[in-house]
Amino acid sequence: MAEKSRTIVRVINVTKSFRMGNLEVEALKGVDLEINSSEYVSIMGPSGSGKSTLFNMIGGLDKPTNGKVFIDEVDISQLDAFELAWLRNRKIGYIFQTFNLIPVMTALENVTLPMTFAGVNSADAQEKGIALLDEVGLQKRYQHRPSELSGGQQQRVAIARALANSPAIILADEPTGNLDTSTGEEIIAMLEKLSVEHGVTIISATHDHKMLAVSDRVVWIRDGKVERIEDRHALDISVGGIQSQA
Ligand code: ADP
Ligand code: MG
Repeated sequence: MAEKSRTIVRVINVTKSFRMGNLEVEALKGVDLEINSSEYVSIMGPSGSGKSTLFNMIGGLDKPTNGKVFIDEVDISQLDAFELAWLRNRKIGYIFQTFNLIPVMTALENVTLPMTFAGVNSADAQEKGIALLDEVGLQKRYQHRPSELSGGQQQRVAIARALANSPAIILADEPTGNLDTSTGEEIIAMLEKLSVEHGVTIISATHDHKMLAVSDRVVWIRDGKVERIEDRHALDISVGGIQSQA
């Protein structure tokens, strides 16, 4: 088991309001959350509960109205555009429901792109890109464009891309949302395996209950607030009635 002591994400009293004309939508109403390194955390809740908004706050894709987000003890609201771009390129890998691959690029080019941004030389980026595509089971698909791949294969490319710069954190927003049940299960199993092998923290916003089984903790949110945080390991002990190993 990976060490789980360091706090890698700290969300402190985050609120987020959107104004639409005269209407103000309070998408997050004061969220506090701490996530440890190498944890697998699912953020679960009904549609419209604020999962994607929280995802965007943690990933530095949007700014809180109030409150703070710390990544590795850095207050990301204090970063300038260059520093934020660096953090998003090196520290966090992103996975989206709609895969968000670049359509005119091959699978391999999609995976090497974040490394190119990070200044990795082309030969090293190619080598690592191939290794990552092999790892997600896409041998022989290096030169395929997204339109030539199935949804599950596209999400595998996105996972390889998310791992390109060896991030500390992978953020996934409904990673199985556009996939059929069995393909979704494959993606969940892959995320779990990679989280262990790469020692990466996974934070997944989802309403896919299949994600529960692989999660260390589940953050249930409702109407912009954390309703309950469930420790799945504590649950194993109480439900199984057998002492599980620490
Ligand atoms: P979830 O991902 O859990 O389905 P979201 O975080 O997308 O929920 O949305 C939470 C609430 O915030 C919803 O009421 C949604 O309509 C609103 N919302 C989200 N993004 C925006 C936006 N850019 N502008 C206006 N309202 C938004
Ligand atoms: Mg969402």
